[in-house]
Amino acid sequence: MTEMVRKITLSRALRIMQNLFPEEYNFYPRSWILPDEFQLFVAQVRMVKDGDRSWKPTFIVKPDGGCQGDGIYLIKDPSDVRLTGTLQSRPAVVQEYICKPLLIDKLKFDIRLYVLLKSLDPLEIYIAKDGLSRFCTEPYQEPNSQNLHHVFMHLTNYSLNIHSGKFIHSDSASTGSKRTFSSILCKLSSKGVDIKKVWSDIISLVIKTVIALTPELKVFYQSDIPTGRPGPTCFQILGFDILLMKNLKPMLLEVNANPSMRIEHEYELSPGVFENIPSLVDEEVKVAVIRDTLRLMDPLKKKKEKHFPDICMDRKHRVPPVSDRMSSSKLKGSSLSVARSQHPENPFPGKEDPGCELTGDPDSNPEAHLPSICLKQVFPKYAKQFNYLRLVDRMANLFIRFLGIKGTMKLGPTGFRTFIRNCKLSSSSLSMAAVDILYIDITRRWNSVTLDQRDSGMCLQAFVEAFFFLAQRKFKMLPLHEQVASLIDLCEYHLSLLDEKRLVCGRSRRPQSSPPQEVNPTTQPAAGSPAPRMIGANKLSHSRHALS
Ligand code: ADP
Repeated sequence: MTEMVRKITLSRALRIMQNLFPEEYNFYPRSWILPDEFQLFVAQVRMVKDGDRSWKPTFIVKPDGGCQGDGIYLIKDPSDVRLTGTLQSRPAVVQEYICKPLLIDKLKFDIRLYVLLKSLDPLEIYIAKDGLSRFCTEPYQEPNSQNLHHVFMHLTNYSLNIHSGKFIHSDSASTGSKRTFSSILCKLSSKGVDIKKVWSDIISLVIKTVIALTPELKVFYQSDIPTGRPGPTCFQILGFDILLMKNLKPMLLEVNANPSMRIEHEYELSPGVFENIPSLVDEEVKVAVIRDTLRLMDPLKKKKEKHFPDICMDRKHRVPPVSDRMSSSKLKGSSLSVARSQHPENPFPGKEDPGCELTGDPDSNPEAHLPSICLKQVFPKYAKQFNYLRLVDRMANLFIRFLGIKGTMKLGPTGFRTFIRNCKLSSSSLSMAAVDILYIDITRRWNSVTLDQRDSGMCLQAFVEAFFFLAQRKFKMLPLHEQVASLIDLCEYHLSLLDEKRLVCGRSRRPQSSPPQEVNPTTQPAAGSPAPRMIGANKLSHSRHALS
């Protein structure tokens, strides 16, 4: 996961999705990878500037693998990129700077939302219904050459702003330099903003981002976790950093694999004398995330459900949330409790509480004293609306199927040839010699730009590029995503026929009492790939486009 959410890897994964679905993935700023795409960056900026003289962009350069604002700087022109020294050894992403963020109290702020990836296959995503809003400490101005280097104006990182003399430690959820996101929503709601729309845009941003990350994660996963045997159950809490634009559109800044779960902050009692004191805002948000995650992931959950069958207690039986308890003890009269009571009853309108099965009668359920549920399931709940985006996921299933040896993450030339042959993709216009050249060309290019040199062969992104190429050749005239979808349908169809044929042959050849035959690795459905699709033929006949 840490690999997957590095700035460069995330940008690459999102770029593939932007190529396929530009409208759906316009929540991520246009980005280039440095130093590899420096020339492309220069050329594209020049092209847009030539077409629109009034365009005066700003860009933000972020070192790959950096965090807490480390090494980040703003530029007005590609020639300002610091190409010397560190960039060669430490690649970076340069992206369009969002110049018009939503401001509160004249300050820029971002949102940290916690997302639980409960399972990869089947995909299960939960979102915490409250998050953190981290504020800058200097009033915002659109970037100009005088203020470009004002970090307290442009970067919302807590770790930077804490060092500003103007940082305000929050004594309530709705004031200071770190607030709950729900308090921001309350504020916006009181100004007439449609916060249901804001929430649903955020949910869709999160689901789409996870959909972009899962294909490669599956490749990592199958190389590490043996399939078909009881083994570790993996889950991950991700920290999504999101910026609301002035027009309330959420934009993804980055994803953190190991978001800080600290619930204390350093307080400077007197110059140079620090003390760790509880941060109520952090506690409010993070304790609930950890607790709900443990509830959801608890391997003993099934047993508990057996012991506490009277599930889904009435909400009024629950003990109040952390904030309310605090507000009566530590925070008398503070707005924490006010913010909670104004919190939209359910940020996922019309949906039942997915976590309710884990609560119970307070007298019989030992968990009942815990505050209310914060993690909301959004996938598979909204799967129907988003499944059409999972094309790269289906490509990854094909890729994994042909990887063969367990533990590898790269496809060898024989695996690629078998893929072409089994999916019947070679033809008079695409000879096997041309397939080999395609493999060599794309693999060599990708191996020169990726950091991962562990094993040789074709990585998933290279396979995706080859797949796009094949799809464009075969289904000319269609938009890219339809070309790709048609080729995936075709491949799945041929593979399901092959599986059926092998199953029949295996059955007819094998005497009743003989042991199961060893299955050819290239025909065995790999981790994460769906069972052989018997619906393949059916699907193909319903395909909107005739196959060439
Ligand atoms: P880091 O991992 O170092 O925190 P981020 O990508 O989160 O890096 O960027 C740090 C901060 O810079 C963000 O919290 C945000 O305030 C600001 N920022 C990052 N990218 C953009 C962008 N494209 N437009 C505007 N502000 C940005």
